[in-house]
Amino acid sequence: MFTGRLIVQWCILCYIYSLNIGKGQQGIYDFHTHSCLSDGALSPIELIRRASQKGYHAIAITDHVGLGSLERLISEITRDCSLARKHWDIVAIPGVELTHLPPAAIGQAARQAKEMGARVVVVHGESIVEPVEAGTNLAAVQSPDVDILAHPGLLSLEEAQAAAANRVFIEISARKGHCLTNGHVAQVARMARAKLLLGSDAHDPEDLMTESLAVAILRGCGLQESEVNQVLAVHPRELLGKLKSAGFP
Ligand SMILES: [Zn+2]
Ligand SMILES: [Zn+2]
Repeated sequence: MFTGRLIVQWCILCYIYSLNIGKGQQGIYDFHTHSCLSDGALSPIELIRRASQKGYHAIAITDHVGLGSLERLISEITRDCSLARKHWDIVAIPGVELTHLPPAAIGQAARQAKEMGARVVVVHGESIVEPVEAGTNLAAVQSPDVDILAHPGLLSLEEAQAAAANRVFIEISARKGHCLTNGHVAQVARMARAKLLLGSDAHDPEDLMTESLAVAILRGCGLQESEVNQVLAVHPRELLGKLKSAGFP
């Protein structure tokens, strides 16, 4: 009886220990968030601080931009990301989300964003809950300067194949509304062998993700356990590797 209780206690301890190991090794990678420089609630530095406290390993601040606001936003976000990386244990990455641009302007805008110091360029894709111009998805996945096509709505096989060929990641979205087509996006990306990332598209501190929510969203759009691991751990490290080889410290 006494031995049995000891064995049960030992098993519980082992289980708790394994959960903690998993947490420490991974952490959240989130390459799509918004600060008050566009329509988010928090300043860039507070958003990074909150993410750091929530167990994030990496966060990109990707505020909405058009051509006119590119330079100012990239400069402000870059300064706060540098400060955070210097003092806290989090990879804070300056980025932008090219939002509602005419498709013909996306390639050039992405190039300019990179030249001005944006390390991650996200394109606001053809979500079914907004009147994003048709052709936006295709323009994004054809640009060598775009890293992530966010919330692509009814993504076509042709778009997903171009994303795979050009190493543009396709987003599974945690954002209300934009997430309505996650199941479709996951299925088409799988057919095209395009690589997926999960983005919170956080606008408020409570939108920042936990690991359990991240896993649930990915399982909820039909991904298998091995695919979930790819999206949460393997693909983010690939993107970080790409940033490093482009000179990100
Ligand atoms: Zn967006
Ligand atoms: Zn966004």
